[in-house]
Amino acid sequence: MKNILDTGIKVIKNVDSYEFGLDSIFNINKIVEKKIASLDLSKRVVVFVDEYFKNSEIISVFDKYEIVFVSTKIEPTTDGVDLIMQELKSFSRDKPSVIIGFGGGITMDTAKACANLFNNNGPSEKFQGWDLIENPGVYKIGIPTISGTGAEATRTCVLTNKSSGLKLGMNSDHTVFDYVIMDPNLLKTVPKSQFFFTGMDAYIHCLELLEGSYRNPVGDAFSKQTISLCREVFNSSDMFSHASREKIMVASFLGGSSIAMSYVGIVHPFSAGLGVVLGIHHCEANCIVMNAMEEFYPKYFKEFHELAKKQGVNIRKGIASSLSESDYDALYNSTIIHEKPLFNALGTDFRKILTRDKVKQIFKKM
Ligand code: NAD
Ligand code: ZN
Repeated sequence: MKNILDTGIKVIKNVDSYEFGLDSIFNINKIVEKKIASLDLSKRVVVFVDEYFKNSEIISVFDKYEIVFVSTKIEPTTDGVDLIMQELKSFSRDKPSVIIGFGGGITMDTAKACANLFNNNGPSEKFQGWDLIENPGVYKIGIPTISGTGAEATRTCVLTNKSSGLKLGMNSDHTVFDYVIMDPNLLKTVPKSQFFFTGMDAYIHCLELLEGSYRNPVGDAFSKQTISLCREVFNSSDMFSHASREKIMVASFLGGSSIAMSYVGIVHPFSAGLGVVLGIHHCEANCIVMNAMEEFYPKYFKEFHELAKKQGVNIRKGIASSLSESDYDALYNSTIIHEKPLFNALGTDFRKILTRDKVKQIFKKM
């Protein structure tokens, strides 16, 4: 019998090249020029920039390129990405030779999705799933400005499909960035709570992997190191110190690399429910779900709260404590739909454990 967890991925595709270091952002022009000069390619370069940087001096490094500011009010949707593609195609008939994503997970995922869609005809929802992208996308460079999701390293770009209620990425080798620049200076301006929420995504990905049944020795090693780095950062007195910014950037990259070989567990399906139904952003939603994970991940539940306390970060409570029954139905449906991670965490009987009533009780604890 085919195991539900078997995606058929036996060979892991990682980022082709990456560099790490202070001021490495200033190498971007060299990398782009080298790429464009290497073939007779169009000179069009599109940079997706997190809107936070609209008035920031740093984006003068992209002066020569076409900039698309990405709003981070809501997380990427299939409709939103299709709209951006329509605008990019109507702006110029030239296909870009290089696409850059400069920002957090929202911006990097938008860049990854569009890079795929230039060489694979949409709509984007066609590619939500595993290995549905046929042609390699446009050459793409990821530059994280906040760390934790690992979007710079993974083979996915997460999109919410409002009509199907599915929060699922384009999982494909073609979604992996060709080049990544990690410059710890870029993290200096991240607000404190957001730094914690996003950083903890790396910790949560890896605890879910280590507590799951679908394991891989390489994934385990990456995960253990990720958790250890997160502990150092969030136990330190200054999570914004140079050393901490370096560590969280590495943790994010390793955490993203580890999750490519396995699955998450219980936190992410519940977090997706909060995202789809209540519009709560991924990383904060994960932290809210951790409030209700004592039964499933007791050791990490305790540690998570100690780390939040150490950093003086408040995790919202009561967010799903008194909703309508139709909201609980919607939350149940958008949680239980994530069968691979739930199977990974709870086995074949996950539906018997996570009954509709049990799921409601768990949401009420948040
Ligand atoms: P984000 O893109 O959601 O941004 C969070 C906030 O931080 C925004 O307000 C943004 O403007 C701000 N910000 C980013 N960098 C900043 C900086 N240097 N200074 C000041 N403010 C800054 O960040 P995220 O938490 O990294 O990403 C969440 C997204 O990532 C979700 O859409 C989630 O689904 C996705 N995700 C993707 C993967 C993947 O493998 N592709 C994995 C996990 C999560
Ligand atoms: Zn995550």
